[in-house]
Amino acid sequence: MRNIGIMAHIDAGKTTTTERVLFYTGVNHRIGEVDNGEATMDWMEQEQDRGITITSAATTCYWKEYQINIIDTPGHVDFTAEVERSLRVLDGAVGIFSAVGGVEPQTETVWRQADTYKVPRIAFINKMDRMGADYFAVLKDIEHKLSIPPVPVTIPIGAESSFSGVIDLIDMCRLTFDSEDQGQTVIRDDLDGTVLELAREWREKLIDAVAAFNDEVTGLYLDGQEIPASLLKEALRKATLERKLLPVFAGSSLKNIGVQPVIDGVIDFLPSPHDIPPAIGKLVKTNNEVEVPSDPKQSPLALIFKIQYDREAGPLCYVRVYSGTFRKSTAIFNIGKKKKERINRILRMHSNRSEDMDELSEGDIGVIVGFKNIQTGDTIGSEGYQVLLESMKFPTPVITVA
Ligand code: GDP
Repeated sequence: MRNIGIMAHIDAGKTTTTERVLFYTGVNHRIGEVDNGEATMDWMEQEQDRGITITSAATTCYWKEYQINIIDTPGHVDFTAEVERSLRVLDGAVGIFSAVGGVEPQTETVWRQADTYKVPRIAFINKMDRMGADYFAVLKDIEHKLSIPPVPVTIPIGAESSFSGVIDLIDMCRLTFDSEDQGQTVIRDDLDGTVLELAREWREKLIDAVAAFNDEVTGLYLDGQEIPASLLKEALRKATLERKLLPVFAGSSLKNIGVQPVIDGVIDFLPSPHDIPPAIGKLVKTNNEVEVPSDPKQSPLALIFKIQYDREAGPLCYVRVYSGTFRKSTAIFNIGKKKKERINRILRMHSNRSEDMDELSEGDIGVIVGFKNIQTGDTIGSEGYQVLLESMKFPTPVITVA
C-alpha cells in the first residue's frame, strides 16, 4: 500500500497527470479532459467551474499488486492549512513540475512544508512536448531551489514537438507508447546510437549519486562491474526514503508519455505505511508522547483529516487509520470531545464511485459515514485509548532492507 499526495504549482499538469494515473490504474473507463471540466478528481462544483482542485479528497486505485491511496493536495498558498492537513496523512508525494516553468515560488512553499513533515518525494517533469521545454534546466532549478540532488530515473528522448518517449536508466531501455492503443501499451526497445550514449552518460550519474549512500554499489562501481537493476533500485529507494535524493521522471501527461514509469516510481521509491515509524500521539491526561503501534490487532485509532458534506449521506469523514481496525455498525469514541459516535458505513472512494467496506485497518485511508459531532483534526478510537493525533510528530522513515 502507498499513501501519496500529488503536489504541483497551478497549471503544471496535476489534474491531467492524476487523470492519466487513474486511467492507467483502471479506475476510469475514459480520460476526463481537464479543458472541458470533466476531470473526476475535481470534487466540488466550484472547482469544476474554476478548473482547479481545491479540496483534499482521497482516491484509491490499484497498480500491479499495490493499493495506492492518492490524497489530493492543494498546491496553492491560499490553502496552506489544507495542504498541512493532507501532508500529515500521506507517506510520500509526487511533485509535478512544468518542463517550461520549472520550480515556481509557490511550489517552493509547499515543498518546504513537506520537508517539515519529512515526506519522501519523487518528481515528474511534465509538459516535455511544450515549446521551450528543457528537462535538464529544470533539474538544475530543482537542485538550486529545493536543496535536494535530483536524480533522473528516466530522461526524455527529444523535446517540444519531437518529444517521443523516455529512456529508463535503471533497466536501460527506451519506453515509447503505442499511439493506436487507447490503453497505451508501453513499448520497450533496445537503445542504440546517440540515445545509447546519452543513456550511458546519465546512468553513470545515477550510479554516482546512489553510490554515495550504498557501499555495495560503490564496490561494484570501483571494480568496474555491472550494477544489477535491482540493487540500483533498492539503493535509490533507501536514499529517497531518507530524503537524500530525489528520483526524477520525464514526460508529457497530455501526450500520454512517461506517466506509467512515475506510477512504478511510486511503488519502487516511496514508502509503504510500514516503512514509516509508528506515529507519536499525545496522552490526553498528561500530554506525554506515546508511540501508536501500527498493528491491525491493537485498539483502533485514526485521524480525521477531511470532512466533505454529501446531501444524502451527511458528513463524509476522511480518516487515516494509524492503529487497529475500524468496523462498520460499531460504536467508536471521539477522544478529544469525549463523545460516543457510530460508524454506519465505511467507504473506499474511487475517483467516480464509492465502495462499501466492512472494515478499515491500520495504514489505510477511507471514509466513515455516521458521525454527528465531528471536526477535522479529531482523533477517533476505542474509549480506553486516550491518545490525540492532531499534533503528531514525524520521524524520518526508515527502511528495513529484507
Ligand atoms: P493543474 O492546474 O496542475 O491541475 O494543471 P492541469 O492538469 O489542469 O493542466 C493545465 C493545462 O496544461 C491544461 O490546459 C492541460 O491540458 C495542459 N497540460 C497538462 N499537461 C500537459 C502536457 O504534458 N503538455 C501540454 N502541452 N499541455 C499540458
